[in-house]
Amino acid sequence: MLDGKVAVISGGTSGIGARTAALFVEQGASVVVGGRREVEGKELVASLGPRARFVQVDVAVESDVERLIGRTVEDFGRLDILVNNAGIGGQRQGGWSTIDIERFWTVLAVHVGGVVAGIKHAAPVMTRQESGSIINTASIGGLVAGWTGVDYSAAKAAVIQLTRCAAVELGQHGIRVNSVSPGPIPTGIFGKAAGMDAATADRTASQLAPAFEEVLRSHQSISRAGTPEDVAQALLWLASDASSFVSGQDIAVDGGIAAGRPISVSVEERKRLGAAFASLT
Ligand code: NAD
Repeated sequence: MLDGKVAVISGGTSGIGARTAALFVEQGASVVVGGRREVEGKELVASLGPRARFVQVDVAVESDVERLIGRTVEDFGRLDILVNNAGIGGQRQGGWSTIDIERFWTVLAVHVGGVVAGIKHAAPVMTRQESGSIINTASIGGLVAGWTGVDYSAAKAAVIQLTRCAAVELGQHGIRVNSVSPGPIPTGIFGKAAGMDAATADRTASQLAPAFEEVLRSHQSISRAGTPEDVAQALLWLASDASSFVSGQDIAVDGGIAAGRPISVSVEERKRLGAAFASLT
C-alpha cells in the first residue's frame, strides 16, 4: 500500500509507533523513526532493514523536529507521510486542586507542540511535492471527558482541532491531514506514566490486556483489548492513497467507546428502572 513512499514516524521506538514503523516498511515505505531513546531506536531500525533509519529527537524541541524532517529529505529525497505520534501520559486525576501546572505545560509541549512543529516543517516539503499525508495520534481522551487526565485530554482535543485547521489550509496544496483517536491500548505509556522505567513498561505492557478487558467490558462494545496493530492499520489506510479523498477527519480506533455504551449495559439499567416503575404504588 505504500510502495516507494517515504514516512516519518515520531515516538516510534515503542508501542503504536514501533508497530506502525514495521507495518509501513512491510507495505513498501522507507521509514524514519524519530524518538528519544537511541538504543531502542537503533535496535528497531536494524530489525526493519535498509529502508529504515533512526533519528534521535525530542518532539517538544522545534529544532529537533526540523532536523528529523531535514534528515529524511536528505536521505530519501522526499517526504510523503508524517505520523505525529510521540506522546506521554497525563497527570493522574486527583482533582483540580492537585494539578501541577508545570507538568501540564510539559504534556502540552509534547502532544501539541510536537504536532505543530511536525506540521510546520513537513508542510513546505509536501507543498513543493504537491502531495502528502499527515496523521496525528490523538485519543478518545480528546473526544470525551473522564478517561484521561485534564492535561492529556486538553492536549488531545487540541490535536483533533489542529488537524482540521491544518487540513483546510494544506488541502489546496495536495496535503491531507487526519488524526486517529485510539481507545485504551495496553502499551508502555501507562507504566511510564506510573513511574516504571521505560524498558520494563514497554516489555510488560501486553500483560495488561486481561485487566483492560475486564475494565472496558461496560464501555466498549467490542469486548477485546485493542492492540498497537489495530491503530497501525488505521494509520496505514490514512497514509496510503486508498484514503485520497479523506481529510480533516478523526477516526476513533476504540472498539466503539466513543459511539456509546454497549447495549447490554443499557438493557440492565432499563431492567432496574422497570423494577422501580413496577414498585410504584
Ligand atoms: P508508548 O509509550 O509506547 O509510545 C510513545 C512514544 O513516544 C514512546 O516511544 C516515547 O519514548 C515517545 N516520546 C515521548 N515523548 C517524546 C518526546 N518528547 N520526543 C520524542 N518521543 C517521545 O505509548 P503508545 O500508547 O504507543 O503511544 C503512542 C501515541 O498514542 C501517543 O501519542 C499516545 O498519547 C497515543 N495514545 C495511546 C493510547 C493508549 O491507550 N496506549 C490511547 C490513545 C492515544
